[in-house]
Amino acid sequence: MLRPYEGSDKMKHDENAGAELLEVIGLAKKFLEQEKKRGLEIVRMKPETWLAVEDAARSPAEAAAAASGKDRDEALESLRPAVEGCTTCALASTRTNVVFGQGNPNAKLVFVGEAPGADEDAQGLAFIGRAGKLLTKIIEAIDLKRSDVFICNILKCRPPNNRTPTTQEVECCIPYLREQLGIINPAIICALGNSAAQTLLETKSPMNRMRGRFHEFEGARLMPTYHPAALLRNPQYKRPTWEDMQMIQKELKKL
Ligand code: SF4
Repeated sequence: MLRPYEGSDKMKHDENAGAELLEVIGLAKKFLEQEKKRGLEIVRMKPETWLAVEDAARSPAEAAAAASGKDRDEALESLRPAVEGCTTCALASTRTNVVFGQGNPNAKLVFVGEAPGADEDAQGLAFIGRAGKLLTKIIEAIDLKRSDVFICNILKCRPPNNRTPTTQEVECCIPYLREQLGIINPAIICALGNSAAQTLLETKSPMNRMRGRFHEFEGARLMPTYHPAALLRNPQYKRPTWEDMQMIQKELKKL
C-alpha cells in the first residue's frame, strides 16, 4: 500500500481533518455537558430506536416511496416494535401502554390527536374513551367506518394527568408520527384539537383561525378541527366541526 510521505499534501490534509474532527468532538462534548447542567436528560437509545428515528428523518414522500414496494401494513408493523419499546422521553416511565395508533394502513384519511388519555393508556388503543366514541360518530357521519381511516396521536404515551405535552416530548415523539404518515401516505389529515394542529402546522394560531380550510402538509391536505373532547365540553363547537367534516367528505369524493 502506498503511504503518504511526511510533509506531503495528503499527510497535511489528513492531519488537518483529524484536528477538525477532534475539535468537533470537543465542541459536541461541551454542548452535551452544558445541556446536562441545564437539566436535559441524555438518554441512550436502543439501536433499533435510532434506526427508526433516522428513518423518520426522511421526508414522507421518501418514506412512501420506500413503502411502495411492500405492503403498508407490513411497513407499519415493522415500525411498531421500536415505538412500543421506546424510552426516549420521560413518559416511558409513567405510561401503562404505548398507543401506536390503529386503523387502515391504506387510509386516505388519517386523524391525529394530541396524546393518549387514561382509557387509551390502559388499553393501548387510540380514541376509545368518550371522546373516541364521539369520533366514531363523526366518522360515520361522513359515511365512513373507523376501519376505513387511521387514528393516532402526536405522542404515543400518555402525559400524567393528561397535561399538555412538553416541547421536548413532542420533539422526541413526532418522528414516529412522520414515519407513520410517510408509510400510509394519506390524501387528507384531520388534526384534532389546537395542540395537534399547531404542532403539525408549526403555528400558534388559535383553532378559529386555522379551521374551515385546508392547509398544505407535506403533500397532504390538512384540516384542523376541534378535538372531540372539546365538543363534549362545548356543544357550540359541533356546527363548525360538522362544516369541517363536510369539507373533508367533499374532498374525499374527488379522489
Ligand atoms: S412519548 Fe414517544 S418519545 Fe416519549 S417514550 Fe413514548 S413513544 Fe417514546
